[in-house]
Amino acid sequence: MAHTSPRTRPETQQFGDHLMYIGGEFVASESGQWMDSVSPATGEVHGRVPAATPADVDRAVRSARAAQPEWAATHVFERGAILRKLADAVRNAQDVLLLEAADTGNTIGSLGGDLVLAAAYIDFIAGLGMEIKGESVPATPQNIHFTLREPYGVVGRIVPFNHPFLFAGAHLAAPLMAGNGVVLKSPDQSPLSATVMARICHEILPPGLVNFVSGVGTVVGDAIVRHPDVPRIGFTGSVATGMAIQRSAAEVAVKHISLELGGKNPFIAFPDVDIEEVAQAAVNGMNFAWSGQSCGSTSRLMLHESIYDDVVARIKDKVEKIRLGEPTDPDAGMGPVNSAGHHARILDIIESAKHEGATTITGGGIPEGERYQHGFWIAPTVFGDVTMNMRVAREEVFGPVLSILKWKTSEEVIAMANDLDLGLTAAVWTGDLKLAMKTVRQLEAGLIWINGTGRHYLGTGFNGWKNSGLGREECLDEVLSYTRTKAVHIIC
Ligand code: NAP
Repeated sequence: MAHTSPRTRPETQQFGDHLMYIGGEFVASESGQWMDSVSPATGEVHGRVPAATPADVDRAVRSARAAQPEWAATHVFERGAILRKLADAVRNAQDVLLLEAADTGNTIGSLGGDLVLAAAYIDFIAGLGMEIKGESVPATPQNIHFTLREPYGVVGRIVPFNHPFLFAGAHLAAPLMAGNGVVLKSPDQSPLSATVMARICHEILPPGLVNFVSGVGTVVGDAIVRHPDVPRIGFTGSVATGMAIQRSAAEVAVKHISLELGGKNPFIAFPDVDIEEVAQAAVNGMNFAWSGQSCGSTSRLMLHESIYDDVVARIKDKVEKIRLGEPTDPDAGMGPVNSAGHHARILDIIESAKHEGATTITGGGIPEGERYQHGFWIAPTVFGDVTMNMRVAREEVFGPVLSILKWKTSEEVIAMANDLDLGLTAAVWTGDLKLAMKTVRQLEAGLIWINGTGRHYLGTGFNGWKNSGLGREECLDEVLSYTRTKAVHIIC
């Protein structure tokens, strides 16, 4: 994303300027600087957001801090009722779909699901108010000992580009339910829909409680992380940024940081599976409607040698039927990837796979045709004969690239699955429940599907193992993690 001054603004922008939301008002940056948002489908500038500075972040934090005590003093039922209104507004925010599809490259047909998910998430959290409770402990027979849970004050929320509206909505819920104010930073690659969420907040929440800032991660995100009045940070994004945030925070203070990071998720198919079912599941698990840009995508398919050829043939057939199209076209099966930098990185990994000896089953570069030479298009790609020493098997591609590996023994496939410093999701396919459970026990991942892929189930939690994360979301633990505990002793 490039900086532009107001003078150089292209007149042809389709979506215009999208302001930040600070202190209950829609504002530009104090610096007067703007950043372009680029259409993934064309590579052209189609909107702008303010390029915030640390001074803007400070304004946002002060605003959240000022509004938070009154919010924390409301009854949890009242906070829950307000969150339910937020959920309803998100559920009905159909007007965001076109903008979100155009700005992310995700297909519009798939994005209705983001509204449903975000609304369900907020509704779920809205019902947890009475669980924000302490404990009474019989530490001594004569005295009274109990704990209280209190909000941190201001929470910094930093979100990635792949589902910016979903994350902007859903990731407000737990900090708010726990009684905090929030400063949320939108991603610089797909920043436009945050304004729609800000408009919803403007209608429903007390002014100043939630603030939206836009701008460069290393400036704006870092300013949130380092701000002395932001003791709690909830981050969703890449491993590298998660580590950078831990480092930055540690330079200024001891902070509570939760991290939802990347994955390179194994999908293990045993010999007894239904070939057609597993081929379809492998394609579904790649989330091609989002060009594979999902942390939970099962991008390492591990097929037993006895089923390898048959499953690969069916996957090839299915992936070649995916209809590339404009993200705003309801019939498109897959759009472009999100940005020029991401496009170049994915193409580089594709070339490395070819160079390192993987077999190109289908795709493997920019699609043919004049249309796809502008914007950030990559053909849905499947590599066979992938081995764990290849870059395509070891790095999170976060793109439409499925790697297929072959295995002979259970020991071998478990070793392959666990052979990375990531551990977000995994899928196990077999009709043998004992075998499935034995495999689940051996896998190093925070979420495992048996005979399924992709779906999240609210209440059960979502969290990575190893470098895939720290802390749990989508469950009560998430709400409690936005509180700190105080032990009280009444000496009788
Ligand atoms: P990213 O590059 O790590 O960026 C995520 C957010 O962090 C953006 O808003 C970014 O701002 C900001 N940021 C960048 N540098 C920062 C810094 N030094 N301090 C504070 N904030 C900073 O990730 P991405 O490319 O947007 O998203 C893809 C990654 O997210 C993948 O690895 C994916 O697996 C992961 N992800 C994980 C989950 C999960 O729940 N586990 C869900 C979705 C995505 P800019 O945009 O301005 O750089």
